[in-house]
Amino acid sequence: MELRKDPITRSWVVVGHAESAPASAESCLLCPGHESDTRTILSVPTQGAWQVRVLPHFDPLYRIEGEVGRTAEGIYDTMRPVGAHEIIIETPEHNRPLSHLSDEAIFVVLQTWCARIIDLKRDLRFKYVTLFKDSGPQAGEEWTHSHSQMTATTFVPRRILYELRAAREYITQKDRCVFCDIIRQEERQGQRVVDSHGDYLAFCPFAGRVPFETWIVSRKHNHLFESPRPTAVRSNLAVLLGRVLRRLEKISPSYHLVLHTAPNTQQTKGELSDYWKTIADDYHWHIEILPILEKRSRSYGIKEVYFNAMMPEEAAEKLRQTDHSQ
Ligand SMILES: [Zn+2]
Ligand SMILES: [Zn+2]
Ligand SMILES: [Zn+2]
Repeated sequence: MELRKDPITRSWVVVGHAESAPASAESCLLCPGHESDTRTILSVPTQGAWQVRVLPHFDPLYRIEGEVGRTAEGIYDTMRPVGAHEIIIETPEHNRPLSHLSDEAIFVVLQTWCARIIDLKRDLRFKYVTLFKDSGPQAGEEWTHSHSQMTATTFVPRRILYELRAAREYITQKDRCVFCDIIRQEERQGQRVVDSHGDYLAFCPFAGRVPFETWIVSRKHNHLFESPRPTAVRSNLAVLLGRVLRRLEKISPSYHLVLHTAPNTQQTKGELSDYWKTIADDYHWHIEILPILEKRSRSYGIKEVYFNAMMPEEAAEKLRQTDHSQ
């Protein structure tokens, strides 16, 4: 496998065949009892039976060893898929989705995400750490056992680049964070607000790409998800995430979730370093959740322009009225 850069859009694409996955085991590889099969990166709690376990992906898109080996042939850039690819098992219980964990257990999952992002960002080769979750049969989940995945890459993903550019331009013109401005307007108008708890807000974005697309944000400015403000109460985020996921799952059992946090800015050289000057003020972490409604799922990826048949205002109204209890 290799990474190729599209010279026009400047996005990196992983090209090639993934190595064959381990022969499918009879029992679930993520269930307790398989600890000796693979290295454990992190186990929470560190002693005794684990509640959350992090391990290397069995069939990784990116591998930790070796040099990036950036090469160019004419106008085409290539590099080796150096990086990290981890699985975060969110619960030892096979049939319990993240949305049906206790608030305390969701909080532990959030803390584990933070710990892994911080650790991976210590490696200066890695420019970005992505946390994502494909949940449900329509989302292409790899195992039914509740888990999320984390990748560390030597490049910043395309959508984050778009956000960085837009946030930088906005602060240059208005001297404000575009995300904070969005949050203020959403709270003022209230039409697209789904729920809120403490300093955390869930809303359907104004130009949502898919029906019931929902974002979760911190009302207080912060560019780094993994470094909460000293006054932040992250257990409130756990409560809100659980409530939002339970609402969404009543509408569609499958969804993609992705966390957008600021890139690794420790590397002060390179093509993006100009963005780092204002990043603490212009970028703002957020969680994007894209539910998959069965009939339309196939069209999302191919479309050049998204068509969302559900007005975000109607979606938010419906979600507000949906019961969020377990
Ligand atoms: Zn399992
Ligand atoms: Zn902000
Ligand atoms: Zn985003």
